[in-house]
Amino acid sequence: MASLPEAVLRTRVRRTAQRASDAGHIVASLGNVSARHPRHDDRLLITPSGVSYGAMASADVVTIDQGGRVHRAVGEVRPSSEWRVHAAIYRARPDVHAIVHTHAVHAQAFSFLGCPLSADTEELDAFAGGDVDVADYAASGTGELAENAVRALGSRQAVLLARHGVVSVGVSLDAAYAVAQVVERQAERAWRLDQATELSASLPERGR
Ligand SMILES: [Zn+2]
Repeated sequence: MASLPEAVLRTRVRRTAQRASDAGHIVASLGNVSARHPRHDDRLLITPSGVSYGAMASADVVTIDQGGRVHRAVGEVRPSSEWRVHAAIYRARPDVHAIVHTHAVHAQAFSFLGCPLSADTEELDAFAGGDVDVADYAASGTGELAENAVRALGSRQAVLLARHGVVSVGVSLDAAYAVAQVVERQAERAWRLDQATELSASLPERGR
């Protein structure tokens, strides 16, 4: 991905955001996607703030540096308000080239519970690189949230943000999106399993 022209990468960022939107992982503009700039390691391409992904054009994807300075944007379009989390992860993790942040409902539910997702399936272990921990709560858009996310992510591929959502990372947009899908699937499975266990325990002995 490092050799892709910026315009191609911009289109891929938009497409990934729209895939997440189509899958219901992102509603309206509640979530964001970014990729490390193909030539400038300290820059990133990120989805815009407040633009519904259904209506987003590739040109709306904003190029910023890791300090949040805008290098390329169309008109008044601003980068996602959660750009600090993305910038901090690219700074801390040279292996990461793409980030997908969603408010997918099951993963978000675990984030509200403050409950890590246990890597008790091969798929989560393979895609996330271990348990998906919960970063301490901090308000959205703050540097504190970015620091907490980096710390809880460690060297793995996904992290839950307390009472907020989930961040998935990868060597490419496809890889980061696949992690997002696997994390949400694992969260839904764990949720259903918990309900099924409760239901099973409430059934009369002969009905089990
Ligand atoms: Zn968010």
